[in-house]
Amino acid sequence: MREAPILVVGAGPAGASAAATIAEAGLPVLLIEQRDQLGGAIHRQPAAGNEEHVWRPARHRRNWAALTARLQASAERIEIRTETIFLGVDSEGRFLFDDRHEACVFARRPRAAIIAVGAIETIRPFPGWELPGVMTAGGAQVLLKETGRPPEGPILLAGGGPLLPALAAQLAKAGNPPVAVLERGRPWNAPAALARLALSWAPMSEAAAYAAALAASRVPYRCGAVVTQAEPDGDGLKVSIRVGETQEPLLVRHLLIHDGIAPNRTGIPLPDPDGAVPILLAGDGREALGADAAILDGRRAAMQVLARLGHAERGAPSDERGLQRARDFQATLARALQAEPIVPPPETLICRCEGRSHADLAALAPDASAREIRLMGRFGLGACQGRFCGPMIAALRGQPLPTASPPRWPLRPVSVAALARLTIDETE
Ligand SMILES: Cc1cc2nc3c(=O)[nH]c(=O)nc-3n(C[C@H](O)[C@H](O)[C@H](O)COP(=O)(O)OP(=O)(O)OC[C@H]3O[C@@H](n4cnc5c(N)ncnc54)[C@H](O)[C@@H]3O)c2cc1C
Repeated sequence: MREAPILVVGAGPAGASAAATIAEAGLPVLLIEQRDQLGGAIHRQPAAGNEEHVWRPARHRRNWAALTARLQASAERIEIRTETIFLGVDSEGRFLFDDRHEACVFARRPRAAIIAVGAIETIRPFPGWELPGVMTAGGAQVLLKETGRPPEGPILLAGGGPLLPALAAQLAKAGNPPVAVLERGRPWNAPAALARLALSWAPMSEAAAYAAALAASRVPYRCGAVVTQAEPDGDGLKVSIRVGETQEPLLVRHLLIHDGIAPNRTGIPLPDPDGAVPILLAGDGREALGADAAILDGRRAAMQVLARLGHAERGAPSDERGLQRARDFQATLARALQAEPIVPPPETLICRCEGRSHADLAALAPDASAREIRLMGRFGLGACQGRFCGPMIAALRGQPLPTASPPRWPLRPVSVAALARLTIDETE
């Protein structure tokens, strides 16, 4: 009988790093990725038949080339299944997958599992965020990376965080610079945090490259500026912007919004490093610390699994130090970009799936439990299961939406035809 593999879900930097580390130690790996290619959020490859590569800093390209070379060097020990979606774990430790390529569901019982499914974007709700023409900056970046083409017409980027200037620079290099980047924080009001950030060489040199690209295309980067409303206007949008006490309108075709990222935990099993089948989380899906830290975190998780199976030491202290540096950097960045919370008007949509507004949320008792918000308010009960509205509710009410425990599966819809072709592989 074949040796059961170590399962790694997600082939971004964290999953690729975990898979390579385990295979280099001589153990078989099953690497599952829902997309048709490896790379994750940051190294998203062009779609099939599209050669166009989006501009990205050399450091990230070098890191990805090193990871893919390691995967290739250990290829005989890594079974890679792309276009395959992790659906959940049953009560007997069988992990279920939907192979969209072969149109079948299969189950495997691995010796251990590392789940590295990355982060989700968060947004701050305002009237009109759900309109056509408004999308998340990360969603727009994925389109750009896959097609190489920026959206046509005037684009406005708004919200908070480092993805905004990164995407603005990529749009500029791809031929359609945005009309402006609106950052709601006021970093110039936090000089101590800015001074600390300046000591972090790699991310700051990356920020300087983005700033140079924006300056070359004359893209204004306005701090302390927030979108208060978006309304349909012909083929585009009329966006109301508040800067200090003044309101101004701006006509654009696309509004790209983003207010940070958070670990993707919806439906993901809880970590259980000491279980019969140890389950560990890695990368941004465990703690959103960025792409460099994801590589370290993938290795950290792999070393922990190897140690649990009696194959290695428990991990490198240098990885822990690197993760702590990334944590300090993210905390300092958050201080620099800190902004006043904004209460959205009552009509603002919060749950797009069920059409529930901020007024509906406010109508619930102030001490309503998270479960009451879900069951009585009908928030988070729609198709996305709270993936999108959950972080908004947490920010507005100061308490998270509960997730089903243990997580319900399937994590994503599966066709009956694929389920009918279920295969269970009981390798030990
Ligand atoms: C939208 C977005 C844009 C970003 N843009 C930038 C940027 O411009 N510059 C920058 O420095 N950093 C950026 N980041 C941060 C950076 O991408 C991450 O720090 C880094 O990619 C984290 O690596 P990871 O391996 O943890 O997760 P990811 O790179 O997100 O990899 C997770 C992988 O898991 C797969 N997956 C998820 N769910 C399943 C499932 N159920 N079954 C199978 N596979 C699954 C995904 O397809 C993905 O390939 C961005 C993050 C996001 C969310």
